[in-house]
Amino acid sequence: MYCVKCGVELSESEKRCPLCHTEVYLPGYAPNEDARPYPKFEKPEKVNPRGIYFIISFVCIIGAIISFVCDLNLGGGITWSGYAIGGIALFYILFILPGWFKRFNPAIFIPCDFLAIGLFLAYVNLATGGSWFLSFAFPLTGAVTLIISSITILCYYIKRGYLYIFGGAFIAAGLFCPVLELLGYLTFGGEYIMWGIYPLIALFLIGIMLIVIAIVKPFRESLCRIFAI
Ligand SMILES: [Zn+2]
Repeated sequence: MYCVKCGVELSESEKRCPLCHTEVYLPGYAPNEDARPYPKFEKPEKVNPRGIYFIISFVCIIGAIISFVCDLNLGGGITWSGYAIGGIALFYILFILPGWFKRFNPAIFIPCDFLAIGLFLAYVNLATGGSWFLSFAFPLTGAVTLIISSITILCYYIKRGYLYIFGGAFIAAGLFCPVLELLGYLTFGGEYIMWGIYPLIALFLIGIMLIVIAIVKPFRESLCRIFAI
C-alpha cells in the first residue's frame, strides 16, 4: 500500500505515513498494533543522582576528618585544617547541597551561598589575625549578596520586567564602586585616586539604557527585530 499524498510505500502496520505524516485510512482495515516496523521507544533508565551526591558527601566528610586529624598530629592544633575544612564546607554548600533538593529554589540558595562565603572570609580573617573583614570583606560580600539576591528573587517570583530589574542592579552596582574604593582605601591604605567614579559612570549609563529600553516600547521592538529575539 502507498501513501495517498506522497506515494511512499507503507508497511501494513503504519497508521501514518512516516514521511509526510498523512493518516493512512483504509476502509475495513484495522492496523496491526503488534507488528510495528520499528521497536517501541523506551526511556533510558535514569541514574539516581542521589547516589552520586551521597558519594561526594562521604568524600567531603572523609577529607575534612583526615585534614583535621593530620593537622592535630603534625601541627599540634588547628592551623591549616581550618581553611581546608572551611573550603570543603563552602564547596559543599555551593555545589552539592542544592542537589539534595528536588526543587531548586535559587531565591533561597543564592543568599545562603553568599552567607557561607561571608562566614568563610570572616573565619580566614579571624584565623590570620587580619583586620580587613569588618571594614572591607563584609561590606563587599554584603553588597554583592544584596544585589545578586535581589535580582534572583525578583526574577524568580515576578518573572517579568527583567530590563527594570537588571537596570536597577547595574545602577546599584555602579553606586557601590566609589564606596568600595573608599573602604579599600580605609582598610589597606594606598593612594586615593577616585577610580570608583569610572565604573560608576559606565554602570550607571548601562542601567539607565536598560530602563529606557524597558520604557520606550518602539525602541524595544526595533531592538528585538535587529537582534531577532
Ligand atoms: Zn506520505
